[in-house]
Amino acid sequence: MAQEGKINVAVENIFPLIKKFLYSDHEIFLRELVSNATDATLKLQHLVRIGEATVELGDQQIEIKIDKEAKTLHIIDQGLGMSEEEVQKYINEVAFSGAEEFLEKYKDTAKDSGIIGHFGLGFYSAFMVASQVEILTKSYKDTPAVHWTCDGSPNYTIEPGNKENFGTEIILHISEEDTEFLDENRIKELLNKYNKFMPVPIKFGTRTKTLEKPEGAKEEDPAPTQEVDNIINNPSPAWTKQPTDLEDADYKSFYRELYPMQFEEPLFHIHLNVDYPFNLTGILYFPKMTQDLNVQKDRIQLYQNQVYVTDNVEGIVPEFLTMLRGVIDSPDIPLNVSRSYLQADGAVKKISSYITRKVADKLKSLFNEDRKAFEEKWNDIKIVIEYGMLSEDKFFDKADKFALYPTVDGSYFLWEELLEKIKPTQTDKDGRTVVLYASNKETQHSYIAAAKNKDYEVLLLDSPIVSHLMQKLESSKEKVSFVRVDAEHADNLIKKEEEQISKLTDEEKETLQKTITETIADSGYTVQVEAMSSDAAPFMITQPEFMRRMKEMQATGGGGMMGFGTMPDMYNLVVNGNNDLVQSIFNEKDKTKQAGLIQQGVDLAKLSQGLLKGEKLTEFVNRSYGLIK
Ligand code: ADP
Ligand code: MG
Repeated sequence: MAQEGKINVAVENIFPLIKKFLYSDHEIFLRELVSNATDATLKLQHLVRIGEATVELGDQQIEIKIDKEAKTLHIIDQGLGMSEEEVQKYINEVAFSGAEEFLEKYKDTAKDSGIIGHFGLGFYSAFMVASQVEILTKSYKDTPAVHWTCDGSPNYTIEPGNKENFGTEIILHISEEDTEFLDENRIKELLNKYNKFMPVPIKFGTRTKTLEKPEGAKEEDPAPTQEVDNIINNPSPAWTKQPTDLEDADYKSFYRELYPMQFEEPLFHIHLNVDYPFNLTGILYFPKMTQDLNVQKDRIQLYQNQVYVTDNVEGIVPEFLTMLRGVIDSPDIPLNVSRSYLQADGAVKKISSYITRKVADKLKSLFNEDRKAFEEKWNDIKIVIEYGMLSEDKFFDKADKFALYPTVDGSYFLWEELLEKIKPTQTDKDGRTVVLYASNKETQHSYIAAAKNKDYEVLLLDSPIVSHLMQKLESSKEKVSFVRVDAEHADNLIKKEEEQISKLTDEEKETLQKTITETIADSGYTVQVEAMSSDAAPFMITQPEFMRRMKEMQATGGGGMMGFGTMPDMYNLVVNGNNDLVQSIFNEKDKTKQAGLIQQGVDLAKLSQGLLKGEKLTEFVNRSYGLIK
């Protein structure tokens, strides 16, 4: 016969587990207790607002106090307090959340009250750092005050307490191993990390305030001072306000509040604000990007109801935006689950795509409002945008409206505008439109000059991931092909314009090709003799676009590209058979002299590409001295 039953979990067994493993980080006990104090304060404010409580509230605050002698840490609030009955219910029953009960009971009106708690476990985190915990509390309902004491075993005592005003004081007797939490600086650090933007003022000690000098005071008289409460938090941070109530300067000053060690101003901000189908507020800032993607200590901070949770937003914010700064506040993000689970969560996916959309919309409107200013910022923001185009298809589609393609002359084109600039004849042998680009204005100068001479637009694409982006553009846009100015394709394209009459016969070309190949004796170079205009350079080095781009993608970590191993460098040595120098090299009868001229000419071409290094460079320099002697 089947039997039904209920597994009996004894509190004695669970209690040590909670103490040890509930939170990996001991320091979060303070966050939990300040959250409870905040909840108690907000609940009372709510009850007063709806007329269920009739007490004089005054300026409610939360106070944190250290008593070094008694080795205690105190968290004192002026919230709704608890009667004996309520202590029995909320404290003595582990995992019964008064916060959840409150939200359930007042669900029509308290939805936006900012109540933090919900698992009914936060309070017990106190035992991670305290050998004994006391609660001294008095309900706003004016029932007798209660004094609860517990030493971490499940046994507690409860007795009448001595407290006049409503509210709660939590007293932690800090255990021997955790005396760091009796250090003022440590507590300050924690309050600053977790509670900096919590909604109720938090007092920690006092500070000296300088007052106005009284009327008629002398120059040398010191200004009077006064001891005032030291409030460590800003209860209404910018992200909780309406964008219409904020000026640009407010956003900037909030940025400094968030990152006091950041001296550079942000480029622009995006205010996030949704309440359906999930709740989310926040402000994201675009900082000036450095090329070094790894250096990042000021990160986006995640809050829940103004309580700091983490600065690891992986899985919540799309990866390309983790380079931004700012805050996100959402009570709807489940944090008690692993990150990989989080990424699969439907609500979190929606949050992530909402953020992507908002960022795209903001970029579009910045572009439309002031194109010039946007162009000026392009260099500082392009990495984020290019990375976004690569990693998020939705963002890629929207980017047509603001992603810019700069030219070597400092013009900026949208994709559509760029295509209009391209000559109809500018196609490769497969009929694809060729987009010419350079990655370095200095080293590719001669190639850029040659292309511009023929009226081609040359883009300047120099960010580290741009080769991946070109690949993506080629595969998603209509028949385009990116070709770097020094690639063999580009060379063909430029040559195509005017067919040259060759001064060398095909046979002669072949001889010259052989001679040069033997002289340079380098398998990394393929020698090719061409008939170009006589004023074009005698020797030019080009690299197949495909090869070079594969290598670049490998260097910046192309997914799947890793398996290729390290690819060798492969170059073309283009020899202009119509150039006078090449002509005289060809006609030189003295074989030693001929070899010397070839070496010198090829080395010059390598030098202009930065390809001449080490021993070869030394040889070249010595040979050159010999020539001018
Ligand atoms: P949660 O905050 O998730 O509800 P906690 O374990 O942190 O769970 O707290 C349990 C309950 O104890 C709270 O819901 C609340 O009812 C009560 N409580 C804790 N701290 C206070 C306080 N400072 N003032 C009033 N009630 C409190
Ligand atoms: Mg709590």
